[in-house]
Amino acid sequence: MQKKSVKIFLSVVLTLVVLAGAAAVVGVVRNGRTPEAAPVGAAPAETTAPATTAPAPQPVTLSFLSVGDNLIHDGIYEQANRRAGGDGYDFSFCYTRIADAVAAADVATINQETPVAKSYKPSGYPLFNSPVELGQEVADIGFDVVNLANNHMLDKTSKGLLESIEFWDGLSGVVRTGAYKDKADLETVEYIERDGIKIGLVGVTQYTNGLSLPDDSPLEFLYTSETEAIEKKIKAAADACDVVLVNAHWGSEYTTTPSQDQKNLARQMAAWGADVIIGHHPHVLQPIEWIANADGSQTLVAYSLGNFISQQNTAARVIGGMLHYDVTVDPQTKAVTVSNVKLEPIVTHYVNGAHDVQIYPLSQYTDALAKRQASRIKQSDFSVAYIEDFVRDVIPEEFLAA
Ligand SMILES: [Zn+2]
Repeated sequence: MQKKSVKIFLSVVLTLVVLAGAAAVVGVVRNGRTPEAAPVGAAPAETTAPATTAPAPQPVTLSFLSVGDNLIHDGIYEQANRRAGGDGYDFSFCYTRIADAVAAADVATINQETPVAKSYKPSGYPLFNSPVELGQEVADIGFDVVNLANNHMLDKTSKGLLESIEFWDGLSGVVRTGAYKDKADLETVEYIERDGIKIGLVGVTQYTNGLSLPDDSPLEFLYTSETEAIEKKIKAAADACDVVLVNAHWGSEYTTTPSQDQKNLARQMAAWGADVIIGHHPHVLQPIEWIANADGSQTLVAYSLGNFISQQNTAARVIGGMLHYDVTVDPQTKAVTVSNVKLEPIVTHYVNGAHDVQIYPLSQYTDALAKRQASRIKQSDFSVAYIEDFVRDVIPEEFLAA
């Protein structure tokens, strides 16, 4: 679509230039290059008001990619430190096999499960913190939207959360969602814009692992239980933007079935105006479904995309997904249509010693690799077929590539 917009823009400019001076060239420009920009009934060169003949705006389609938990255990930053020769961190190895898919999407979203707080040392479970090089890598490979609403957001206290917010705000091209500097920040719609389409963002979390903000902290975030505030936030995003995308960190860990609470909130958020709901936190895949809205539209819900990367140790927890989907906005009717929804399975691979933690698209994974990590994840029959069967058991067929 980007190319098409440029073409239309250029054609309008060219038409105006031509109309202003050289009538003889008009036909050549229209017929030879950009017929769609200059309707047959366009005013002759001598008349005024050429600008009124602009073409009707066409629907715009954007490609999206969403992933689940970027969960950086010790071994992941330790290997990154070794790959950087002991000085700093090089996380590129972790993401190199999926980086092209992330870069190719017009909008790519991720749940950043760990704080990126510069004044704290890197740490793993249970109170995480990741080096700034990790965040830089996430941005470098092309993630545009980073969700901070999750159960680890307060692992390094309110100071760590504020530093994380400031870190992500300091990266150009990245929009942070789900954690806010103060009430005014919470009440300001965060959005990302592509090809003139504004995608409003909302991020909510069910848990913060028993941690809370000090009473005098100005920081803000939304729990899934704060339904009135969520309704307000989604409706504000729907009013200000063309599309609303919600990140929801919810559900029970290690279960592939969404809870009734998840289903109820998904329906409420759809009714309030969410077009896409991207879930995470269970560390395993959960189903994808459509919610039919009263106005005839459909909201896409992925209840959990599983882990993007982690050092967790069961078959279910090393299998995740990259969700590809298109969002089309009709500028005349404002209708939003989500289509071409496909979950691409991914596998986090590593063997004992954790010197090789890396995300594989399933298309690049092999039985030989699966066999190498079978004992670590205590799944002796782990194989490509095992992964395919697992994914098919959870994800409806319409959301899987044939
Ligand atoms: Zn979580």
